[in-house]
Amino acid sequence: AERPPHLPALLAAAEARDPGAPALVDGPRRWNWRALREESTRLAVGLRRLDVKAGDRVVLLAPNRAEFVIATHAVLRLGAVLVPVSMREAGPGIAFILNQCRASVVIADPVMMMLVPPALADGEPLQRVCLPGASASDGWMRWETLLDQPTAGFMDAAPGEEEAAVILYTSGTTGAPKGAVLAHLNLVHSVLHYRHGLGLRAGECGLLAVPGSHVTGLVALILAMAGVGGSVVLLADFKAAASLALVARERVTYTLMVPAMYALWLRDPALRGTDLSSLRLAGFGGAPMAPATIEGLRASCPGIRLFNAYGSTETASPATMTPPGSDVLEAVGKPLPCADIRVMDEQGREVPRGTPGEVWIGGPMVVPRYWDNPKATAEGFAAGYWQSGDIGTLDAEGYLRVHDRKKDMINRGGYKVFSVEVENCLVGHPAVQEAATVGVPCPVLGERIHAFVYAPGASDRGSLRAELVARCRTELADYKTPDGWSWLAEPLPRNANGKVLKRALREQVV
Ligand code: ATP
Repeated sequence: AERPPHLPALLAAAEARDPGAPALVDGPRRWNWRALREESTRLAVGLRRLDVKAGDRVVLLAPNRAEFVIATHAVLRLGAVLVPVSMREAGPGIAFILNQCRASVVIADPVMMMLVPPALADGEPLQRVCLPGASASDGWMRWETLLDQPTAGFMDAAPGEEEAAVILYTSGTTGAPKGAVLAHLNLVHSVLHYRHGLGLRAGECGLLAVPGSHVTGLVALILAMAGVGGSVVLLADFKAAASLALVARERVTYTLMVPAMYALWLRDPALRGTDLSSLRLAGFGGAPMAPATIEGLRASCPGIRLFNAYGSTETASPATMTPPGSDVLEAVGKPLPCADIRVMDEQGREVPRGTPGEVWIGGPMVVPRYWDNPKATAEGFAAGYWQSGDIGTLDAEGYLRVHDRKKDMINRGGYKVFSVEVENCLVGHPAVQEAATVGVPCPVLGERIHAFVYAPGASDRGSLRAELVARCRTELADYKTPDGWSWLAEPLPRNANGKVLKRALREQVV
């Protein structure tokens, strides 16, 4: 089974390989592959009794708890379409998603129940299932009841490789949410990219610290561990000390987290005293990592293979990764075997190597479309490529560097400034914990640069500002020094996936 054609086969293979091997750890609760499969079978049978059929959408609103994984397996094994939704989503966003994908069932954690409408907007019924822990549940079916079914004779679905397995709504930092349709083919390729790109093997133990509802958590951890018959250790609310303690306690071998989480590791005194000897692979992605954080990790985690992974919801996880043996971490890596990466100019022509342009990504991991949204599909994809909106450069050796998102690039009097470059310079100052720069309208220059700085320990803003200006002047071209400054009392506003909400910042100064 080197290349399972669909996810039910992949999950079956995980159990067949070693039924007694660990599969899932949620606090004190543990499942081996046999027990996990038995429980997902019971849920699949329960969902079938609710008339869930192949292709039906099941929305999952849950944190990183065991039921998230069990429900994921059950829905996929039915050939139904899993629609995981972030726990940070608000009522209107949840209603939007339920209606846009025309969900037939929603499975919700107790804390999210009050945000779920009783029916779809047009009155179509919505069956609601609440996870263990809910007190009153009028109009809701209980998870425990659903699981209480005889399972004899249950057979996995055998979906075609082009069929939808998962719909993930992009977080909407660029507008209304769009539901990327991840087909079985896309996901199987991503699982194999992780497996072979990282040398994942049986017995691997992955820490799920990013939300399972995001592409990285779902694919790099939950599905990739299934792909090798490994286990997933769940952490629901990220705290640096708690995540480090879990790595030590569960002998975690692998994780993939967003840069902000590693920055918190580096600032936590627990990092020094924690036994990280089990951890052999630590990846980061989802947003650019500041060179200062990369240096800190290199120094604090010797012996751990660090890697950068770049991709998106639309590429069903990574398109590039740091190749084995390479320690070039400031590049997002090289294209994975099945990824076709091109860097294009504004006219849609490929630019020469070394020249920045928009990154276009093709290959079997690229999703075919957005759910019920031909307009967004036509705008986002061209000739089989997903147009990432990222500005990047491919170098002579094949490394891809991502400089900025097109919409975050600042045009200061015709000079193009990558916001990330200025931010990296600012966070290199020891007093600065976080920084973001945005372009704000300027009658003379078109745009000028405004910096938001979070430096909780700094008492004298005047001198910090002078030091930061001096730092930018020495390290960057002269037009890249910020023109305006804001000092934040709290860390930067971020979405559920750890991305800075630049739109919210821009609104503060415009
Ligand atoms: P939206 O597309 O609506 O803005 P989103 O940005 O949250 O939502 P994702 O699919 O989570 O959507 O993010 C993909 C983007 O994240 C990439 O296009 C890129 O800008 C950024 N990104 C991902 N990995 C990396 C990385 N390793 N280095 C730098 N940036 C990255």
